[in-house]
Amino acid sequence: MQQIKMYIDGEWVEASGGTVLDVKNPSNGEVIASIPAGKAEDVDRAVQAAKRAFQDESWRKVKPHERGDILYAIAEKLKSDRDELAKLESMDVGKPLTQGYADVDAAIRYFRFYAGAADKVMGDTIPIEDGLIDYVVREPVGVTAHIIPWNYPIQIISRSVAAAIATGNTVVVKSAEDTPMTANKLAAYFDELKLPNGVFNHVTGLGQDAGAALSAHPLVNHVTFTGSVQTGVAVAKAAMENVVPVTLELGGKSPNIVFADCDVERTVQGVVRAIIQNAGQTCSAGSRLLVESSFKDEFLEKVVEAFKRLEVGQGLDDKDIGPILNEKQFNRVKEFITLARQEAEILVGGKQVTVEGAEKGFYIEPTVIDGVDPNSRLAQEEIFGPVLTVFTFDDTEEALKLANSTDYGLVTGIWTKDISRAHYLSSRIDSGQVFINNYGAGGGVQMPFGGYKRSGFGREKGWIALYNYTQVKNVAVRYD
Ligand code: NAD
Repeated sequence: MQQIKMYIDGEWVEASGGTVLDVKNPSNGEVIASIPAGKAEDVDRAVQAAKRAFQDESWRKVKPHERGDILYAIAEKLKSDRDELAKLESMDVGKPLTQGYADVDAAIRYFRFYAGAADKVMGDTIPIEDGLIDYVVREPVGVTAHIIPWNYPIQIISRSVAAAIATGNTVVVKSAEDTPMTANKLAAYFDELKLPNGVFNHVTGLGQDAGAALSAHPLVNHVTFTGSVQTGVAVAKAAMENVVPVTLELGGKSPNIVFADCDVERTVQGVVRAIIQNAGQTCSAGSRLLVESSFKDEFLEKVVEAFKRLEVGQGLDDKDIGPILNEKQFNRVKEFITLARQEAEILVGGKQVTVEGAEKGFYIEPTVIDGVDPNSRLAQEEIFGPVLTVFTFDDTEEALKLANSTDYGLVTGIWTKDISRAHYLSSRIDSGQVFINNYGAGGGVQMPFGGYKRSGFGREKGWIALYNYTQVKNVAVRYD
């Protein structure tokens, strides 16, 4: 059992009130760590430290390529601790170990990607008239806040923190109270690099305390948030009081649109993987299957067979599906399954699973629900479990209408050999990412990621995310 401390202004500290919160392994309910229950005073210390660091010449003087070196060094540390980190992530989130490795590998790639980018974020010159030079520079915004969800901690921290440091900002991370373990390791890596105090800070604690204080802090200059719509709206309102920009990634109800002319085996695999990854607790989970009516029976039979073969077990045992994060999330999934029994048809799954030796874990069978009314809660809301809802369509226009029929718009999968149809659909879909005959594209470190509609705004990942953490200054110089 590890006693984690916060990392503020280059020091390892307890919460000002001295209280702590337990961290449990979702696979078996064991307490694996305690974290300080950070409060507004602690957040204030961290933000003040980040502000001082930002204004201090010692951080300003670090050259862009040297910031790249810092990020490369973090990537190297992640790489050398890869086994330990994958295990830690698996124990903390409950995800199968293979997925823990995939997350650590993605984190390494984020740090490398933004390390390479650090000395390539360029400005512009604008022709005005003879005797006048006009140039545009991209400057760091200042103190950046990163409020992290519990489902992909190391990946989500890495993608925004690396981009923020690459562009010369300072950072305050608020990890999720359920899953702080890898954020704590990252803090240790930054500590080992002996950066100026306050460049990187990690605060822990409950969302309504530490998270709310961070999003409302007047010295924060940008907030990056990933999580639920409800909390995202609260965070954005708090930031808006200070006229501070936010990047919001708020989940989805993403469709996989399957036509009869698809490559069947590849599509079955893609559809199944898109919903079971991290037990469906993924913002970009492919949680709606839209299948062409004439092809439904043949395709669903294969999907159901694949679901029956899936194994459920503890994260470190590395089966296909791990537990649901905690009792609150589990009850939410169960509520939707109860709804399915009342108003739709469960084709496979739907029952709680007891895993031997892990009786305190919250496990659920992977579930396929047919006959779902497109206007129902089952069709509209994030279930956040390994639960696939099925809909049918007769033609492309109906598929499009169904695909766009939720408030979300994060990711869409299109499975067809008809490339014209795929491009047409892609052009009409309200979705931040579209995958044609694949889903997820290798982790997508380089690809802009974010939502249309209530899935959020702003983009993370890839080059474009660097612009979240810079502001534009135009300078006009008369020299004649
Ligand atoms: P949440 O949105 O409440 O929590 C996400 C992060 O925000 C955590 O770090 C939390 O501590 C913090 N937070 C909570 N309240 C806050 C506040 N008032 N101000 C600032 N920060 C605050 O998510 P949750 O309650 O853990 O999960 C609920 C639902 O959210 C899930 O069922 C799922 O539908 C959705 N969710 C989506 C994602 C995603 O990747 N898009 C991730 C996690 C959860």
